[in-house]
Amino acid sequence: MSVGTLTIDHGAIDANWRALDAMTRCETGAVVKANAYGLDAESVAQTLRRSGVQSFFVAVAEEGPIVRESVGSLSNIFVFSGHMEGDEDLLREYQLVPLLNSREQIERHFSVLPGRSFGIQLDTGMNRLGLEPSDWVAVREDVLLKQPVLIMSHLACADDPSDLTNARQLRVFRAMTDGINVPRSLAATGGILLGEAYHFDLTRPGIGLFGGSPFDAAEPVVTLTADVVQVRDVQVGETAGYGNVWIASRRSKIATLSVGYADGLIRALSPGAVVYDHDAACPVVGRISMDSITVDVTNLAHIPETLCIIGSHQTIDDLAGSAGTISYEILTSLGMRYRRERVNWHN
Ligand SMILES: *Cc1c(COP(=O)(O)O)cnc(C)c1O
Repeated sequence: MSVGTLTIDHGAIDANWRALDAMTRCETGAVVKANAYGLDAESVAQTLRRSGVQSFFVAVAEEGPIVRESVGSLSNIFVFSGHMEGDEDLLREYQLVPLLNSREQIERHFSVLPGRSFGIQLDTGMNRLGLEPSDWVAVREDVLLKQPVLIMSHLACADDPSDLTNARQLRVFRAMTDGINVPRSLAATGGILLGEAYHFDLTRPGIGLFGGSPFDAAEPVVTLTADVVQVRDVQVGETAGYGNVWIASRRSKIATLSVGYADGLIRALSPGAVVYDHDAACPVVGRISMDSITVDVTNLAHIPETLCIIGSHQTIDDLAGSAGTISYEILTSLGMRYRRERVNWHN
């Protein structure tokens, strides 16, 4: 048996990309790093290619080949981590465009792959990746002579429109790039929602395509259900799971599901997490184990065959909220033990 069924609605991914695309007048790309946020880069990139995506983004060169093979030779594939030592074969063979982050990377690229397409990543205040303003001033003239295909930066607080960091980074980005005749990109999902000033020539949504906040109007993409393996009666005072952290205060029915933290249901989800039998919320009780969780189904009138972990009653953001995390972390943690079904419910 598989630990559960993970349904991925490619119709919803297509609809989400179209909805984000309709919010701007520029090109809309797609970020498919980390195996398309855990949802399978190969099939997701294929779907998005059909939606009309021409520019894909991955985090490291090693993620490029699977995307190249699924989207064909005509699309752009950009690499956020730029050109690291040893990347040249992958960059050349799969026509990946590194977004050069430092003077060291710029030198490496011009010496190892001269004449090959590249972009530039600027740091406008996040202090994570990209050239600082002072570095940019020093290399800008030389770099522009070599004709970068994209200049980008990334916003640190775009999920919160009221954060003043957004406007500050926008000002820095404009000061570093205004008047340059190269396509520019600043916005991920959150940046698209901040409005036209943030859009420039190309946007780079990731989480919004997969149904996550801050794109609250997104169509849900993921449904996750797990089979009930066993149900037992538990007497008052008995416990469930490791460490006896849950103690029955009434006679209870406890169902065991064969999914656990190895499948992305991280331990921080308990206590407080629920799973659903149709409309009825059933609390997860006791600690989450590597391969199983225990659920209190006492209030149900019947014994369920399956329980729903992510679905219409509990979104990826709801589940993430129970663990004090974000939907990005839930999606990218789901793991490979599920039976994965590709559907087209929303179209
Ligand atoms: C991950 C990432 C994105 C996509 O961000 P979302 O919030 O998922 O839309 C865009 N740009 C960069 C540089 C990233 O690292």
